Amino acid sequence: MVLLARVRWFRPVLLRNPGAPARLRYGHGVIEFGLTGGIGSGKSTVAQLLVAQGAVLIDADVIVREVQMPGSPVLDRMVEAFGADILLADGSLDRARVAGIVFGDPDKLAALNGIVHPAVIDEMTRRRTAHADTDATVLLDIPLLVESGYENLAGIIVVDVGPETALERLVTHRGFAVDDARARIGRQASRDDRLARADFVIDNRGDLVALAAQVDACWAWMLSLPRPVPGGPVVPIRGRGEN
Ligand code: ATP
Repeated sequence: MVLLARVRWFRPVLLRNPGAPARLRYGHGVIEFGLTGGIGSGKSTVAQLLVAQGAVLIDADVIVREVQMPGSPVLDRMVEAFGADILLADGSLDRARVAGIVFGDPDKLAALNGIVHPAVIDEMTRRRTAHADTDATVLLDIPLLVESGYENLAGIIVVDVGPETALERLVTHRGFAVDDARARIGRQASRDDRLARADFVIDNRGDLVALAAQVDACWAWMLSLPRPVPGGPVVPIRGRGEN
């Protein structure tokens, strides 16, 4: 009991001190979790609460935006494929325009994914590799994780709400038009498919206080799992449809 208390106290000290000599570390390796959920389910909110607990966040949406910055090879190839009309006056990407081009056109969507996904996967793998030799608890926030492919993750955390709750939050808090939000929800993996792949479900139908309590339980579960032996391979997450 005393030992457990010491270990629980000691751990955050080490997490706050990533430069500590290896001999001070636990002797356990990095552990990686996938975080997913439908649009507007509360993934970003959950991710921030887990970061506050000590998780290291790797956010696929952030990486997508970074690899599409003006001057990037990815943006150049997108312009080659779809024309200069996809750029705004300041040279940045007009995301709504691209969404309009690929919506309902599987060939164009596949072309877009063929340009963007490899760069995102490379960058995500690079960031994951940077933590491979630590005892970090890594959270991969990947909205389309279930539609994509993954191996070697210790667990999949699914944030779940009904479509009506997601719709209401997207419209009220995020400024989406009702039809747009409904169409985006409809294009994703079904709620049942996601839940079938979940190792831990966070039910976000309640208020933010209820959510925080579930995130605490989720963090305790994440820390309770056995960690892989250090030095294992970083298996890339696959792109959508590469299963
Ligand atoms: P996206 O799929 O667009 O990235 P997301 O899944 O990351 O969205 P969030 O951005 O975390 O979802 O949440 C959507 C909106 O709902 C945000 O404005 C957030 O503050 C709000 N929200 C999340 N959870 C709750 C809750 N339990 N009660 C009230 N509002 C919430």
